[in-house]
Amino acid sequence: MLKGLLSVFTRSNCPLCHRAAARCLCGDCLRQLQSSQLKNCSEFWRGDLPLFAWGIYGGQLKRSLAVLKYENCPQLGELMGCWLGKAWLNSPIYAKTKKVTVVPIPLHPKKLKQRGYNQAELIARSFCRLTGYSLQPQGLERVRETKALYGLSVEQRKDNLKSAFVVGKDFQRTKPRAPILLIDDIYTTGTTVTEASKKLISLGIQVLGVAALSKTVTIADNKNSRKNQPKKKLKNIK
Ligand SMILES: [Zn+2]
Repeated sequence: MLKGLLSVFTRSNCPLCHRAAARCLCGDCLRQLQSSQLKNCSEFWRGDLPLFAWGIYGGQLKRSLAVLKYENCPQLGELMGCWLGKAWLNSPIYAKTKKVTVVPIPLHPKKLKQRGYNQAELIARSFCRLTGYSLQPQGLERVRETKALYGLSVEQRKDNLKSAFVVGKDFQRTKPRAPILLIDDIYTTGTTVTEASKKLISLGIQVLGVAALSKTVTIADNKNSRKNQPKKKLKNIK
């Protein structure tokens, strides 16, 4: 009886569709969101700054990331961070990289105060819980407020992010022994993570790559192949 009453009070609404949900998301939204996962998250793991991406930015994943950032829904970051961690553990990269220090892309303190949390840090915390990697949330600091990057050209993005980051005090005192894996919610052109990694590299810190929940699709990706389609099509979901 008491348990039943308690469950009425603790039950909340799904942050994506606002229907009643016993857990963080309702079953339908959970399935839709999970179907955004790429078949091969290591597809972009190549080049100077390799990328591990959980899904392609769009549809339910895009909406979830917006709700996470702008609708005070930190539990979504924790949930999706778990998924990113699971995908990493199942990837061939994990077998080769047992020691990693995870650094989330920081927010400017002013934005952090407004939002109440850094979504990249929430994702990174869950990711580290799953993988057992060490987390250094203050590995980088954002010292310059930057404009929203949406709609800016690559050159404008670079200008906007110049001197936006500094290496955190702990790393300045003692360099991490393990290579750094940067974590962010959305990877667009890679300008943000490239700027961040440059700062670490300039201090002699090794950067392994980037893990992001989502990657926006570029013209080059479209030309590339159809290998990166999500696992299931949404129409298959009841
Ligand atoms: Zn829902």
